Amino acid sequence: MGISYVSSGIQLVALWLRKAKSAVVFTGAGISTESGIPDFRSPGGVWTKYRTVYFDEFCQSAEARHEYWFQKSEAHTEFAAAAPNVGHRTLAKWEASGRIRGVITQNIDGLHQISGSKDVLELHGTAREVNCLDCDARFPVDPFVEQFRATNEVPLCPECGDGRLKHATVSFGQSLPEKDFERAHQWCQAADLVISVGSSLVVYPAAGLPELAKRNGAKLVIINRDETGLDSMADMLIDGSCGEALAAIDAAL
Ligand code: NAD
Ligand code: ZN
Repeated sequence: MGISYVSSGIQLVALWLRKAKSAVVFTGAGISTESGIPDFRSPGGVWTKYRTVYFDEFCQSAEARHEYWFQKSEAHTEFAAAAPNVGHRTLAKWEASGRIRGVITQNIDGLHQISGSKDVLELHGTAREVNCLDCDARFPVDPFVEQFRATNEVPLCPECGDGRLKHATVSFGQSLPEKDFERAHQWCQAADLVISVGSSLVVYPAAGLPELAKRNGAKLVIINRDETGLDSMADMLIDGSCGEALAAIDAAL
């Protein structure tokens, strides 16, 4: 019974996606675990190993900036080694063929863009870039992580000379990227189908977006291997691997 139930669910989601005029995909850390990046709750992930450095500490203290850069250069090893998986690739293909408007993600790993997705709204920023808090210049992250590892000193902004460089991700206490949130709101208000992939849907305000879409009349599909905060609202729950589920929906299109 399990298998036929799941496969009929996949068929139905494929049908909804074929008929949708404005479908949106919302992703969380679960889509990247199959690329070797642990999610928030997995043991061994860098998120569970270290103390949180809050944004105001980062701004005020050179010691906190050093601690932050040490943590980020450790996490960088995971990101640098990761490649997109079939889940990311399927979403890039759906965007290119006009099946979905784009991807709204909580992830900071940049794997959607690497797999070819163009319109990606990064609600929590990206770990692929650094951002100067003083002059707002942005640079690719790699050379700065290398510099930190070689010198054990926090790199300074090459644009303004001594600005504080921070990964372009949203730290606790830091404001969210307004433009991406605004567009994500618009997409969700206009959506007739939202597919949430690999998110526990408990981190707000991000999780409020699929909820908003549902309240505005969209169908809500949740692909996740554990319970989520919005299971009771979902039109379809697919309990399984993100990559396998997306590939199965794609095969049924
Ligand atoms: P989360 O860790 O809260 O939830 C991930 C969910 O995915 C879990 O419910 C888990 O059971 C499920 N999952 C994991 N692997 C799966 C798989 N292969 N197939 C199906 N389900 C799977 O993640 P979240 O909701 O995105 O929130 C965590 C926060 O931490 C986010 O704000 C994000 O910015 C950050 N984060 C990002 C990354 C990344 O960029 N890859 C990784 C970890 C954490
Ligand atoms: Zn600067």
